[in-house]
Amino acid sequence: MKTCFNQATTMKHSTLKKDLLYCEKYGYDYIEIRLDKLKEYLKDNTLEDLKVFFENNNIKPYAYNGLEEINYRNDKDFSIIMEDLDLACRASDIVGGKFLTMDSNFNVGHQTITQIRNETVKVISKIIDKAEKYSMKLAFEFIGHPACCVNTFNQAYDIIQTVNRSDVGLILDFFHFHAMGSRLEDIKASDIDSIFIVHINDTEDLPIGALTDSDRLWPGDGAVDTHGLMTTLVEMGYDGVFSLELFRPEYWDMPIEDCIKKGKEKTDFILSQYR
Ligand code: ZN
Repeated sequence: MKTCFNQATTMKHSTLKKDLLYCEKYGYDYIEIRLDKLKEYLKDNTLEDLKVFFENNNIKPYAYNGLEEINYRNDKDFSIIMEDLDLACRASDIVGGKFLTMDSNFNVGHQTITQIRNETVKVISKIIDKAEKYSMKLAFEFIGHPACCVNTFNQAYDIIQTVNRSDVGLILDFFHFHAMGSRLEDIKASDIDSIFIVHINDTEDLPIGALTDSDRLWPGDGAVDTHGLMTTLVEMGYDGVFSLELFRPEYWDMPIEDCIKKGKEKTDFILSQYR
């Protein structure tokens, strides 16, 4: 079991350089690099600089975060997504890291499950045509909010099954899984190799459909069925990363080093029970 740090956890006040420094210090195996933080880094540095950092340290890049709200876009907006795809692919080629995350749009109107699936499959297929030249894998994330058009594990799994490519898989985010009432049975019925990344976290105990990202808590501290999820993943032989991903304003306001250190301790404590 490998630990990973998702930069959303410190995104309000930190930088890629600071996150890397402290993640290396506290022993994370991997980092998920946010594209906005990468763009900021590239104002004064190059991708080659980043490559050198990873060559000289233990921590390695895992994924780039990510292409946001990919479906139901007009041509102009979609071309901006393709620019992000281009940046992630170039970074992956030079720096490493073989996964690119993506998610789906909100408030898309009166669309059936089938219409959403068809639209999303079409868009993912367009994206993968470019990504595959770089051996980049696409990790699709369902968002546990009622306004998001793909908001359960089952719905997202159906979409990637329809895409039917080994380089397109899922992100299983504990918060999103809980937030719209996704079921463990659906994970058990899935192909575990299609789960590319696990986002580990927890949540305050609000009703289904009422949760937002700011309700996220440290792993193990809230209402998520962590034991059920961990047991299921271990029994099914999941061997990807467990990536700490929080968006809690209270944690953003902690000193960055403290937040990264505490996140590692909280994640290690959960993983240590299932190794
Ligand atoms: Zn996530």
